[in-house]
Amino acid sequence: MEIDGKTRTCGLLGNPVEHTLSPMIHNTLAERLGHDLVYVPFLVEKGRLGEAVAGAAALQLLGLNVTVPYKSEVIAHLREIDGLAEDIGAVNTLVRCAGGYKGYNTDMEGLYRAMESEGIRIRGESVILLGAGGAARAVAYLCAVKGADKVWMLNRTLEKARTVAEEVNGKVGRAVICPMSTADHRMLPEGKYLAIQGTSVGLAPNTEDAAITDDTFYEKIHTGFDLIYSPWETKFMRLVKAHGGEAYNGLKMLLYQGVIAYELWNDVRVSEEDAQAVYDRLRDRFR
Ligand code: NAP
Repeated sequence: MEIDGKTRTCGLLGNPVEHTLSPMIHNTLAERLGHDLVYVPFLVEKGRLGEAVAGAAALQLLGLNVTVPYKSEVIAHLREIDGLAEDIGAVNTLVRCAGGYKGYNTDMEGLYRAMESEGIRIRGESVILLGAGGAARAVAYLCAVKGADKVWMLNRTLEKARTVAEEVNGKVGRAVICPMSTADHRMLPEGKYLAIQGTSVGLAPNTEDAAITDDTFYEKIHTGFDLIYSPWETKFMRLVKAHGGEAYNGLKMLLYQGVIAYELWNDVRVSEEDAQAVYDRLRDRFR
């Protein structure tokens, strides 16, 4: 692309940012949609997030993504916040508004679009959610608002799962999230579950790890969705498949959180054809 005086800039605030796939998502979309826009990663040192957001506003950056470890911390530096992002307590997308930025959470909607595109249903489902960190909190909220029957939230640290369950149940007004220690997974009621893997266990380079390795657990899973996409097939996914279930990785979630952010910045709707073209390019990275 040719950069000139009218080129608009978007970017990513995080630490680290070296391995991000977001520039590929947004620069591919800009190219396909014919937008004069460039997307670059910005490494933000600990303690300097406020300066980074103020600097971005001063430089009139069109929009920003926010990643680990700043998704909650950034809220204090916003002019406005979308209601959903406020409920989840995490922001991954900043959109310019008068005097600064408005914060959104596109991770949750991104996961929903990814699941829809794979034909995975949440409404009426019995769900097992592994993890109670930032991503799992958004997933718990998604499952609760999209009508899951029950969500068993299993975490190594039970106290964290209890806190998230209390918050989400309070917000949606029903006791849908049930916290449980991962070590107690054999106490899960019999049945077939949709399992969403939201811990960081199994992430490259620790590709032989899974939060649970017990076969009896995987016998209960009809569909497994791992938020991790590197490696392409996690140990969790392999165990789900070995017991007859369907398994998906988190690359489509990454794709759609980016697509939704791009739509917010540019006030456009990205077609499925363009989203698929970006996905194909992302997937080639793993081949
Ligand atoms: P986080 O806030 O740091 O939470 C980490 C979670 O993993 C916690 O539940 C933690 O349990 C658990 N955990 C970590 N090490 C563990 C171990 N050795 N044994 C058992 N449990 C362990 O991280 P996050 O932001 O939620 O991200 C979680 C994962 O989701 C990451 O792998 C990330 O790459 C992925 N993710 C993907 C997308 C996407 O677009 N596809 C988006 C966001 C996140 P404790 O509470 O007990 O510490």
